[in-house]
Amino acid sequence: MRIENKTRYDTRLLRSVITRAYRAVAKTEGPLPQWKWVKFRVRRRITQQVVALTGETWKVNNHTSGYAYLGGKLAVLTIPCPEVRTSALYSLAWHEMFHVYGYNHNRMGGVCRGGMHPDAEATAKALAGLPAVLVEKVPAKVPRAERVAGQRAERMTNAEAKVIEWGRKVKTANTKLRKWRRAVARYKKAEQFRIAAMTPPAKESE
Ligand SMILES: [Zn+2]
Repeated sequence: MRIENKTRYDTRLLRSVITRAYRAVAKTEGPLPQWKWVKFRVRRRITQQVVALTGETWKVNNHTSGYAYLGGKLAVLTIPCPEVRTSALYSLAWHEMFHVYGYNHNRMGGVCRGGMHPDAEATAKALAGLPAVLVEKVPAKVPRAERVAGQRAERMTNAEAKVIEWGRKVKTANTKLRKWRRAVARYKKAEQFRIAAMTPPAKESE
């Protein structure tokens, strides 16, 4: 199983939750043939502004959603940020896992023993040892002066590398230039000899 992490959540934690969902589903459904190749793309839910008919507005960013190809190799999980309840992610992964197994919603509600959502008790058990809420890593804020100094240093390093690179190219170019100049001189000389050999000796005047 591969994880394509488009969030700032810890990939290992995402993997752990999704793998636990897989183990739970596999208990009734057996091993998934394409487990090795299946990809879970995890995306951030962008905060949405919702406008009601009354004109009231509010923000929605706390729900999960997803889709997966029936019996396929890709499941997409869209989760809130910068925090998500681990159980919500687990539920979502669990649901999409059934789609990956080839179940549509009808069959999930009926034939499939798991139903649409795992029950709370089983979820809590499956998630033992993991934090109840996952929190995204916030990139460390670098002070402006430090950032600018960093950029300057990077520019300098880059320029120095270019000097070395082009110095090497100049050397090669000069070697080649000498080689081809010598070749031209050689060919010119050979041509002169050839012309001289072909010229008949001047007739002696009588
Ligand atoms: Zn579904």
